[in-house]
Amino acid sequence: MQLSPGSFLSRYDWIIVGAGYTGAVLAERIASQLDRKVLIVDRRDHIAGNAHDRPGAHGILVHKYGPHIFHTNSDKVWTYLSQFTGWRPYEHRVLGSIDGRLVPIPFNLDSLEALFAPAEAASLAGLLVDTYGLEKNVPILKMRESGGRLKDLADFIYAKVFENYTLKQWSLRPEELDASVSARVPVRISRDGRYFQDVHQAMPDAGYTKMFERILDHPNIAIATGTDYKSVAGQADRIVFTGPIDEFFDYQFGPLPYRSLRFEVFEKDVAEAQPVGTVNYPNDHAYTRITEFKHLTGQQAPGTVLVEEYPQAHAPGANEPYYPIPTPGTAELLKPYQAAARSLEGKVWFAGRLGDYAYYNMDQACARALALFEKQIAHAR
Ligand code: FAD
Ligand code: UDP
Repeated sequence: MQLSPGSFLSRYDWIIVGAGYTGAVLAERIASQLDRKVLIVDRRDHIAGNAHDRPGAHGILVHKYGPHIFHTNSDKVWTYLSQFTGWRPYEHRVLGSIDGRLVPIPFNLDSLEALFAPAEAASLAGLLVDTYGLEKNVPILKMRESGGRLKDLADFIYAKVFENYTLKQWSLRPEELDASVSARVPVRISRDGRYFQDVHQAMPDAGYTKMFERILDHPNIAIATGTDYKSVAGQADRIVFTGPIDEFFDYQFGPLPYRSLRFEVFEKDVAEAQPVGTVNYPNDHAYTRITEFKHLTGQQAPGTVLVEEYPQAHAPGANEPYYPIPTPGTAELLKPYQAAARSLEGKVWFAGRLGDYAYYNMDQACARALALFEKQIAHAR
């Protein structure tokens, strides 16, 4: 039930702050499994958090906060979400614009052949297979620890694919971030041209927002969008907070850094503007990548809608904190906030990409919410 702003008639058992994956899944679990009354608030004017989509030109579903592709190895997450949506199978493909050519990203044996003369490519491919084994995935920072020709190749891939993209995206070099960040896009010793290799790869068949509408469609759940947590604090004794953890504590241990983005959505009067869902531009332009939505949604139309992503510094109040920044330094800054969160145990639960300050994909946010429910919230007295 969507409430009109300000119409909070009664106290609730739970307030959930944030109607993204984390908040919506927890609201659904608490409402359906514990039979408790939940008020879920989001200060944006819509549900679905950063996964929110809505029809744009030609009815093409546009992801308001950048392209979201669902992929998971978790049968549990897949089964859970499948209660609320059907799926359209979709395997995301990305090409990188490198030296005037479009080559597969993650960098693989086909990328090698596209950028090197045939004899050199064959010899380097042999070296990669002999060293790591066919079908293996090798993080670029790991590959750069090698020596000889392999190190030269690693340096080449680092320079062409990772260095400038990462500087644009994070204003940091790959080695300044947790190794897990660049390892998301490993060098593939194979010809697998898919961006992800998860067991389940698909898009919700009617879009993410529709899936969230169904997750939240329960008589025990009241939804208040356009509503900040501050205006409802005190309406329940138990709170799940999925906004920025440093904001909850009024930045008392200093602000945590986030990276933001500006999205430039544009239309083109052609049926298809690029050969795959996303083209990455590691070395050219101020944007990192361009995504054409109809590849993701499978929609047919005479025109097309695309989005460019321009990374930018985050300034609270001025733009959105899209990415926590995983570095050893931020892990330290987070610790006092985690201790403060523990001191509220039993009253306030923190979770999600912003509540945990963790670089979660959608399935990880969902898995975290399910685990928090099972391990703690289901037993809360
Ligand atoms: P969010 O979706 O951020 O939801 C938190 C909500 O809390 C927000 O709606 C916010 O408005 C609200 N909120 C915060 N503070 C308050 C407050 N004080 N009062 C009221 N409301 C508040 N994942 C994938 O799996 N695949 C992808 O392809 C993918 N692409 C992405 C692309 C981009 C550009 C970005 C930024 C992320 C992408 N993700 C992707 C990650 C995905 O967006 C997250 O994993 C997921 O949205 C996390 O859900 P969440 O509920 O934790 O957080
Ligand atoms: N990355 C890169 N070049 C690419 C693609 C990715 O350097 O062509 C690095 C970059 O640091 C990026 C990280 O790998 O932030 C993770 O990429 P991913 O596409 O998973 O990022 P997201 O979709 O979360 O923005």
